Amino acid sequence: MESVAHPSLDTPLIEHLTDLGQARQIALGCVRCDLAATRTQVVFGEGVPTARLMLVGEGPGAEEDRQGRPFVGRAGQLLDAAIAQAGLSRDQVYVTNVVRCRPVKVSDAHLENRPPRAGEIGACRVWMDAELRLVAPRALLCLGAVAAKALIDKDLRLLEARGQWLSGPRGIAALATLHPSYVLRQRDPEARDRARRMLVEDLSLAARALTPA
Ligand code: SF4
Repeated sequence: MESVAHPSLDTPLIEHLTDLGQARQIALGCVRCDLAATRTQVVFGEGVPTARLMLVGEGPGAEEDRQGRPFVGRAGQLLDAAIAQAGLSRDQVYVTNVVRCRPVKVSDAHLENRPPRAGEIGACRVWMDAELRLVAPRALLCLGAVAAKALIDKDLRLLEARGQWLSGPRGIAALATLHPSYVLRQRDPEARDRARRMLVEDLSLAARALTPA
């Protein structure tokens, strides 16, 4: 989809959007933070527009930046497998990130991923709030400490907080779990298995949000 340049794009305009597709279309032209200068494209959330469960990660990586879709690289493949193990599928959920453009740093003349900065997360919050308002999920699963601190509690300690329902933005019930990239970074096979099991356990807990009350 082509981006739409919106030089007058401001917070009140975004706050009054009533259609997720329109929000996405406008977000594709967003230049609200410096990440606009280095991205290939904006990676807006995707999935069921009325999903009961929203998964929120940290930010797009190289493959996501290339394809314009969230969680399609190695971490996304691991997430898909964990979602399936928890008895869910990607077409039951909505998936997004706290920033919608890839944060990068230059290392040995190559671009590498880096965590988003507070100012970038703050600038992108208006899109996060638009997605929360328009999808209106019953539950949130924050993937990794960056998303959990941004959406649940800035002082949250991930390993202590995981497995418990907490209060997220707009009063939405929220869980925090490990980011799939963290699982992939574990070199020790046992540590990797343990981290992956935790991710599946937390996805299974979140899956209960899909059960009608
Ligand atoms: S990260 Fe968010 S706020 Fe920054 S340019 Fe991309 S879409 Fe806009």
